[in-house]
Amino acid sequence: MPQDLYETLGLTSDATPDEIKRAYRKLARQYHPDTNPDDPEAAERFKEIASAYEILSDPNRKARYDQFGEAGSSSGMPGPFGDFTDLFSSFFGGTQRTASTGPNVERGEDLEVELTLDFEEAIFGTETEVTVRTAVACEPCEATGAAVGTKPVSCSRCDGIGQIREMRRSILGQMLTQTICPNCNGSGLEIPNPCKECNGEGREIKNISIPIEVQAGVADGNTLRLSDRGAIGRRGGYYGDLYIHLQVEEHPIIERQGDHLLHRLHIPMTQAALGVDLEYETLDSREKISVQPGTQSGHVFRLKGKGVPRLNGRGRGDFVVEIIVDTPTDLTPEQEDILREYAEKRNEGVSSNQKRTWGRR
Ligand SMILES: [Zn+2]
Ligand SMILES: [Zn+2]
Repeated sequence: MPQDLYETLGLTSDATPDEIKRAYRKLARQYHPDTNPDDPEAAERFKEIASAYEILSDPNRKARYDQFGEAGSSSGMPGPFGDFTDLFSSFFGGTQRTASTGPNVERGEDLEVELTLDFEEAIFGTETEVTVRTAVACEPCEATGAAVGTKPVSCSRCDGIGQIREMRRSILGQMLTQTICPNCNGSGLEIPNPCKECNGEGREIKNISIPIEVQAGVADGNTLRLSDRGAIGRRGGYYGDLYIHLQVEEHPIIERQGDHLLHRLHIPMTQAALGVDLEYETLDSREKISVQPGTQSGHVFRLKGKGVPRLNGRGRGDFVVEIIVDTPTDLTPEQEDILREYAEKRNEGVSSNQKRTWGRR
């Protein structure tokens, strides 16, 4: 009876979400009970198709199916009250799919870690990994929580539905109440022989490393969210998410201002006064900067598109070079004489010879 869900949809296990969706649409139309009245075989086939799609279209359940096969996804299968026509109508333009009323599958905890990147890793992106202490599927029992060679069975109290429905009389008439089954906590399953490795939890705590691809352009204080990379829920439950809080180290001379980078470039006053052509290196390119004669401190060169890549993929910010003109503080006696002569020629009054008290280290 257990059949490969991908085969059911005429696919192989490397099918993309898009291919899964297309295959389902096509087959569901073909076998829908409305188009095949009084054909029990078609109805049966339709159920299989819908059931396969229900699992493969849900990233969480698909992941569990890919990992554990039928056992992994079975507790999430629609119970006896599962209604495939609901799924069908929602797919073909009906209302949003409502939450399943089937058994409750536990979602694992979300995890949080901090990751420190250096300045350039944040700007250009990087591949790295983080180590987390997390719950992973117990291998011997394949996350079922049942001892090897045994299987979880349907909960005797709720018949595997995970919920208990009761008719109650009230002054308003009969009311149907629905509560989570206390015997199985809503999972619909009972484990007569718990796995010894995990005490029936179906998961174990381990340190694992998770590869992380950091996108270019992230910044200090950003948080990345990796869906389904958190802890696995008990007994083949869903995975929680992993949140990665980024810290970015500062650069010794370049300052980041959003998408722009700022470098305050110091040049001596002679270059500012007489001009100079500079070979300038940004973080990833070589540029020519032509400092004109008479350039003042605060003059800005804006290198368009040489800054930080934008996270939305639309280009890059700018690399801004701000010129700071340095006054020399280490004149030799000879250089001082030249400057004094220069000042005299320009009628610029300066302090009298102070006997070179400057210039000492
Ligand atoms: Zn186990
Ligand atoms: Zn139960």
